[in-house]
Amino acid sequence: MKLSDRITRIPDPEGNAWALFDRAREMQAQGIDVTILSIGDHDERTPDLLLDRMYNATRAGNTGYAPLMGSADLRQAIAERVSRTTGSPTAPRQVAVTPGGQMALFNAFLAVLDPGDHAVIVDPYYATYPLTVRAAGGVPVTARADPDRGFQIDLDSLAAAADGARALLINSPNNPTGAVYSRQTLEGIAEIVRTNDLWLISDEVYDSQVWDGHHLSPRALPGLAERTILIGSLSKSHRMTGSRVGWLVGPDALVDALPDLAVASTYGIPGFIQEAALHALRHGQEVEADVHATYARRRNLAIAALAGANRIRLSPPQGAMYVMLDIRATGCTAQDFARELLEEDHIAVMPGDGFGRSARGHLRIALTVEDERLRRALLQIRKRADS
Ligand code: PLP
Repeated sequence: MKLSDRITRIPDPEGNAWALFDRAREMQAQGIDVTILSIGDHDERTPDLLLDRMYNATRAGNTGYAPLMGSADLRQAIAERVSRTTGSPTAPRQVAVTPGGQMALFNAFLAVLDPGDHAVIVDPYYATYPLTVRAAGGVPVTARADPDRGFQIDLDSLAAAADGARALLINSPNNPTGAVYSRQTLEGIAEIVRTNDLWLISDEVYDSQVWDGHHLSPRALPGLAERTILIGSLSKSHRMTGSRVGWLVGPDALVDALPDLAVASTYGIPGFIQEAALHALRHGQEVEADVHATYARRRNLAIAALAGANRIRLSPPQGAMYVMLDIRATGCTAQDFARELLEEDHIAVMPGDGFGRSARGHLRIALTVEDERLRRALLQIRKRADS
């Protein structure tokens, strides 16, 4: 039987970005001690404070169908957080709770794209982006961010890609590059968005991980709130990756249409998870501060471990829990380097190619193992590059 074009077109024609990660997991299953620096999942698990809340909520009976768009309290707490982080007043009715930021992205594209519409993504991009656009029936087109300009978005390339498009997706702080967009960059983006009458999808799941400068949301720029869809999540900020709690914030008419999508797909997220999410937002300041301190420390550790390397260049990331290593001076492709690193040194990293052409010749390192292990792995990568 034939599968739909929609589903068969989802995978990346240039190959599976996670192939090396899958191989690393396979090696682990064979009992090999692999250092996994290839996925943005915390080494420390969801804190007891939040697990206790989940457990107590289940025991108190919150195990039935839950409010589709999120409970009133949770939407209120998210609206308050978004008002604070963006500086743009946000009402609870403009918030939809989703199973993770990833589902918020998918919902956003489903809500604004018709089949065949172009959606602009910035290369390098988070590896799910092109798949998400295609799954929603759209066509991803790329604008460039130049590795030799700190991976800041190239506005000329953006203007060219935006011509005739329906939507633009940006991500600051950025995975994989660590770039944080300046006010000037965001104003340049805003101009292009207005001129081309685009929806702007702003993925801000790393908004609490800024090392250099400040997080700025385009939602706060004049005239942008009505065409901006903000994506947020507790996965990165509160070590809740497995709980699948995210949100989308958008104009009233867009959010009003989302219950139909939830009825047709997820039916919302579990009530006991919503209770834990509310607790995280109301009482999780220490958790968030600890996550922040952990990655800030590891970022500095990585900069120190690679300082003075001959064939690796690390441009200090301004935000997010990754570092990008420029290994072009080794003369190896990122794929070959990463493959040998995994097979011979048992260290798994992501070759840049999985994030787009602009990341070729780079390795993305997730700072998600404990400090000493991270330092040893980085020194081993340095040794391999310099040998
Ligand atoms: N957006 C970016 C840039 C990410 O890096 C991730 C996860 O790594 C997500 C969205 C999705 O996160 P989640 O679905 O866990 O909220």
